[in-house]
Amino acid sequence: MTKFTDLNLDKKVLKAIEEAGYETPTPIQAGAIPPALEGRDVLGIAQTGTGKTASFTLPMITMLARGRARARMPRSLVLCPTRELAAQVAENFDTYAKNVKLTKALLIGGVSFKEQDTLIDKGVDVLIATPGRLLDHFERGKLILSDVKVMVVDEADRMLDMGFIPDIERIFGLTPFTRQTLFFSATMAPEIERITNTFLSNPARIEVARQATASETIEQAVVMFKGSRREKADSEKRALLRALIDGEGEACTNAIIFCNRKMDVDVVAKSLKKYGYDAAAIHGDLDQSQRTRTLDDFRNGKLRLLVASDVAARGLDVPAVSHVFNFDVPSHAEDYVHRIGRTGRAGRSGKAMMICNPRDEKYFDAVEKLIQKEIPRIENPLGTPAAEARDDTPREDKPKRSRSRSRKKDDAPAQEQAAAPQEAAKPVAPAAEPQAEKPRRDRGDRGDRGNRGGKGGRGGDDRQIVGMGDDAPAFIRLSFAERRAG
Ligand code: AMP
Repeated sequence: MTKFTDLNLDKKVLKAIEEAGYETPTPIQAGAIPPALEGRDVLGIAQTGTGKTASFTLPMITMLARGRARARMPRSLVLCPTRELAAQVAENFDTYAKNVKLTKALLIGGVSFKEQDTLIDKGVDVLIATPGRLLDHFERGKLILSDVKVMVVDEADRMLDMGFIPDIERIFGLTPFTRQTLFFSATMAPEIERITNTFLSNPARIEVARQATASETIEQAVVMFKGSRREKADSEKRALLRALIDGEGEACTNAIIFCNRKMDVDVVAKSLKKYGYDAAAIHGDLDQSQRTRTLDDFRNGKLRLLVASDVAARGLDVPAVSHVFNFDVPSHAEDYVHRIGRTGRAGRSGKAMMICNPRDEKYFDAVEKLIQKEIPRIENPLGTPAAEARDDTPREDKPKRSRSRSRKKDDAPAQEQAAAPQEAAKPVAPAAEPQAEKPRRDRGDRGDRGNRGGKGGRGGDDRQIVGMGDDAPAFIRLSFAERRAG
């Protein structure tokens, strides 16, 4: 088996690796470090969790240990698709270069240009950047890329998803033809293949086992969920998420909850908070300081539930996540593997639970096809909303307000009131449930359903009023009841 000491790394780098507690190089490291140190281009087909970051940072530090940067002319460049990933790569440099004198700058959106300019002016050995911000600096004439000796493109497939490929091509064109390129992608889409054929010169190609099969240590489950009605489906889905979280009890020490859309990330996080859960959102539209704070809190165990979009969570290294909840089935099957790969890391056990709407079944099929495994179906712990919601079923567990009012985009927590009675089904109550979100009527657990028509509620009258569905306001029901009595 290859040892780090076999890899020709600088002694000071080896010392830092030892201090980080790494014993042996991962396959991508064993494969990529030697050709990188020989000055060859490298094409690494590997995803997050494989140790790919160290596979380019370790040789870079070794190579950059000699020589010095000139003002505004960085000697190396690392391009990352997201700010978080860029920040994470910067942290890796800090860890592995702690015994070497190297300067670095992080060029990401949401941080003032002035601070970044000052660093670049002094001269940096390593420039870590998102493509847009790098080009902004270049266009302002603050940056000269003609001294770049090593250029890294990390997570190229995500760059493609995010529409950064034209920027990447432009940046390639701004760096010297003689540069060394280390290029990493989890997959080789045709467009990625084209880029590598154009800009890499006879690369050493290292492919590590694609994680199409999720780690065996991850227990997977899916709830096939159908809302009772269209307008209620969203809040019922959020109630189901809470029930799934609660069902895990204390075993769920922390979790990432993935949503496909940024808007849902916000709504789900807000709703969870409203119900007393320790949750926060992270997605691309939040300002950088907020994103950093949220991530730090999550990493340090101060935050239990991180609600995230794929892009924001991509490449995040959070070592110990007990659970992943897929609020939606990801539309790219590979994202499923990335998402659930956040748990069950390094041999730890983990659990990944997913909610699948009927409209997402085609994505779900693609996921099962990719992982070549059937994901165990589990029952909706709240029962099947569709079964209880036929219009001819008298209901007494409705909020009193009329639902004919139009729904506001941001009133998600208020919408939850309709689902709030389901809270009673939770095995574990949230620490502090806000007063406003208390169940309006005690529907009890699902076993109570049979009693619904029998007692309590609107003066004992649980009949439907023609034309009003089951939402007749209390005062109308009262007048009927009075008339009947009279
Ligand atoms: P990455 O794929 O770069 O996101 O790395 C995933 C995780 O593996 C990070 O937490 C690294 O600190 C860790 N790691 C990288 N290389 C090694 C190694 N050789 N041994 C143990 N852990 C490693």
